[in-house]
Amino acid sequence: MSHYHQKSLAELSAMLQRREISSGELTEHFLARLRQYDKTLNSFITVVEDQAMAQAAAADAMLEKGAAGPLTGVPIAHKDIFCTQGIRTSCGSKMLDNFISPYDAAVVSKLKHAGAVMLGKTNMDEFAMGSSNETSYYGPVRNPWDIETVPGGSSGGSAAAVAARLAVAATGTDTGGSIRQPAALCGITGLKPTYGLVSRYGMVAFASSLDQGGPMAQSAEDCALMLNAMAGFDDRDSTSLDRAVPDSVAALDNPIEGLRIGLPAEYFDEGLDVDVRSKIQVALDQYRDMGAELVDIALPNASLSVPVYYVVAPAECSANLSRFDGVRYGYRCEQPKDLYDLYTRSRGEGFGAEVKRRIMVGTYALSAGYYDAYYLKAQQLRHLISDDFKAAFQKVDVIMGPASPGPAFKLGEKAEDPIAMYLSDIYTIAVNLAGLPGMSVPAGFVDNKPVGLQIIGNYFDESRLLNVAHKYQQQTDWHRQIPDAFS
Ligand code: GLN
Repeated sequence: MSHYHQKSLAELSAMLQRREISSGELTEHFLARLRQYDKTLNSFITVVEDQAMAQAAAADAMLEKGAAGPLTGVPIAHKDIFCTQGIRTSCGSKMLDNFISPYDAAVVSKLKHAGAVMLGKTNMDEFAMGSSNETSYYGPVRNPWDIETVPGGSSGGSAAAVAARLAVAATGTDTGGSIRQPAALCGITGLKPTYGLVSRYGMVAFASSLDQGGPMAQSAEDCALMLNAMAGFDDRDSTSLDRAVPDSVAALDNPIEGLRIGLPAEYFDEGLDVDVRSKIQVALDQYRDMGAELVDIALPNASLSVPVYYVVAPAECSANLSRFDGVRYGYRCEQPKDLYDLYTRSRGEGFGAEVKRRIMVGTYALSAGYYDAYYLKAQQLRHLISDDFKAAFQKVDVIMGPASPGPAFKLGEKAEDPIAMYLSDIYTIAVNLAGLPGMSVPAGFVDNKPVGLQIIGNYFDESRLLNVAHKYQQQTDWHRQIPDAFS
């Protein structure tokens, strides 16, 4: 059996361009791996073999003509939150189990036009609400590094698929950490871009002021190749930003001597696993050896980010999810007695427990009499959190810390304790509240479980983040490790 899956997106792209392999062979190779391994991992909800092979044939024709780009013919996967024309888009929910999208999300059509081959749609927490991929209607995803543990969430399927090399790269979305935390727990590289850089058009909405799509891949270089194709203004998304997208690939090799790295005291508190802390410290020392300067900083309001998020995100989700009413599309209950029964039973039967909890919290926070006490207060605190970052970026170029307080935890371990689960995102959520870009980069292992280094940048500094991560990856091989059972 060939070892194509051991290569990065950048390497496979070069092999395709040189015609050393065809996209047809490559796609068949990954489909065979999916058939072999995904019964164990459950990282995909839908696999589209025939369409993938047809896209591969079209890609090969482009490559033959010499009209190909860097993603042409590369097999990737989309989180099942992105609408895909003619293909089920479930968002991990029974509510959308029967939903065949009539159109493609912006991200999907951009990657399609770039020539990428779509293998299928990856598993995820229901409506992207979760940190362990255990809230999916389609069952939990398992972490390829230890199948008794969770892959993180909500983009757990994308993370597990890339980590087990069942897809070369994948898309994810990050509302409070859902690209970075699963990337950390699965040992891959993930980037949450600046809010507004990647179009939300056709991305099922969870919390619209926080949701942002981004790439999940083996390396920073691979993420840069994906981001170049995914980013850009879209007038169908009212919060899309109309500005030129810098070429992240071109910036990868920029020198990083003199880079000022801010270390927030709040990200190295007593909640951080001691073994994870020591791995992060090793990575920071390595950056210092590469010529960077480590600067202590403070983000005094960061500790408020989890409570603020758990008002803002449920409030927005309660509004966004009101569209699922059993009338227009999605799940409809059997034999409703009247309209009220149709609404309540369709929603009662179609949504899972975590989604219902969020809708109830959000509806409460937005109701008359409570709005000022909760939602307005949370919005005010959100400003303070953003201001902390603004002040920090006066002094430093990037901020570093852990992406997750601990390595992957056991399936079921936090499933019954929402607060413990919510705290999994303690180091990622502030970035979403501020709208900043952030990454997770593989930085070692604790008991054979991956550790992710988080790198946070100023607005629109994703090229610099990818550059800073790439320099580290040229000196380390954590990102090249493949779990034994999937090598
Ligand atoms: N774990 C967080 C939540 O459940 C973040 C999810 C996300 O980023 N989509 O809301």
